[in-house]
Amino acid sequence: MLSKIKTNKKNIVILGAGFTGLRAAKQLASRLRFNKEYQIILVDRRNIHVYNGDLYEISTAYNEKMTQACQTKLQDAVTITMKRALKGLPVVHAQSTAKSIDPKNKTVTLSKYGEIPYEYLVMALGSVTNYYNIPGLAENSFPLKTVENALAINCHLDQMFRERYEKKDTHKVHIAVGGGGYTGAEFACELVGCIKKLGHKYHFNPEKDVEISIIQGSDEFVGLGKKVSDITIKRFKQLRIKPITNTRISGYNGKTLKTIDKKGVPHPDIHTDMLVWTGGIMVNPLLKSFPVLHESGGLETYSTLESPHYPKVYAGGDNATIFDPKRHNLVPKIAQLAIQQGRLIGENIYADIIGKKQKEYHPVFKGYIVPLGGTYFVYSRGMVTFAGIIPYMMRRYVDFHYFASWMPFGAAIKKWMHTENIFLQND
Ligand SMILES: Cc1cc2nc3c(=O)[nH]c(=O)nc-3n(C[C@H](O)[C@H](O)[C@H](O)COP(=O)(O)OP(=O)(O)OC[C@H]3O[C@@H](n4cnc5c(N)ncnc54)[C@H](O)[C@@H]3O)c2cc1C
Repeated sequence: MLSKIKTNKKNIVILGAGFTGLRAAKQLASRLRFNKEYQIILVDRRNIHVYNGDLYEISTAYNEKMTQACQTKLQDAVTITMKRALKGLPVVHAQSTAKSIDPKNKTVTLSKYGEIPYEYLVMALGSVTNYYNIPGLAENSFPLKTVENALAINCHLDQMFRERYEKKDTHKVHIAVGGGGYTGAEFACELVGCIKKLGHKYHFNPEKDVEISIIQGSDEFVGLGKKVSDITIKRFKQLRIKPITNTRISGYNGKTLKTIDKKGVPHPDIHTDMLVWTGGIMVNPLLKSFPVLHESGGLETYSTLESPHYPKVYAGGDNATIFDPKRHNLVPKIAQLAIQQGRLIGENIYADIIGKKQKEYHPVFKGYIVPLGGTYFVYSRGMVTFAGIIPYMMRRYVDFHYFASWMPFGAAIKKWMHTENIFLQND
């Protein structure tokens, strides 16, 4: 058992310190500041909180030299240390991997600290990459889901072009992006600037020597309707990215990419030097510890975000399957909503403790901002869609606002300027 965990208190265990978990911890901590009965234990395998929205920048950022120091600098740009985020809050951070959950006996088992009983449990472990059992994909492609993934892509790009230069290799390099959702689209567009920089470093012609393609199973990109898709396709063409629609990846061995059409008919093989896979995610496999799950793999919740099947277990973000009665749809799994859910979970656990009525969750959509290379972004909310530098400025404000919610204003400005410095290098 963790020495910092007191055994004479009731535990509120929050699994995952991402957008949902960290916000839930903060909200709850502000309410339970003077409470002597409960302790909040926030479990995450890392000692950092990751701002996923800017991972595409980290995967494509230019480095003069590939040193450990520059990797750390890149990681710092999109992360906040847990120490900083939890400063002054009565939260115990257990840096450990959650191994199993026993909802019947109300315990969780952590890799480092063993079994811990809980009174309340918050499921906020996010999701993992889904390779759909496509042959060779997990072994040979580069996912873009975590900060480690983003750094691995960044290193591999540099290494691939360095080796090509050292071996005096002249073959045309093909980089494919599998999956044309917003992660794939923002990565592909930002990659163009990165390749230009690498072209200077390793003496190749980015336009003649490199081809970038993006492969999408349907005929629309980004998943925000036709208008955003049309803007994205136009942008791909401007940036010389080849959009391939209605095509699914069926295998990859590190050199040859196999694809099929919608009816399953194979296309000719495509020589591919690097495949970045952004084509699917699935709920964290640890949720399988709960015998009753929604078919999507998430925990169903009441509108209070508490599970109807497991009392005092709450779920948010990518772990929750929440029905939106206003839109007659499931609530999408995105960061802005995960933050709202985390906050409400904190409030509702506190309400339950003091015997007050819990509040209902009403998702508030503030729109989507999708980066499409450099300072060209697209904004979409309902019927309103526009692209250009204004959405870019909006997004940078959102980034700043987020950092400022975890640190003093001055420190947030410093962090934001540090990230801007890195992000603008390729633009
Ligand atoms: C590349 C990328 C770009 C994105 N861009 C956007 C965007 O622009 N806008 C937007 O709204 N959404 C975006 N999203 C989606 C958004 O990041 C997620 O919906 C959101 O992070 C979900 O929040 P969460 O709290 O459920 O999970 P997360 O924020 O992913 O947090 C999960 C936490 O659980 C921890 N964890 C996982 N397993 C274990 C374990 N076994 N033990 C201990 N700890 C564990 C992880 O370390 C992590 O800290 C993006 C996602 C990705 C991957």
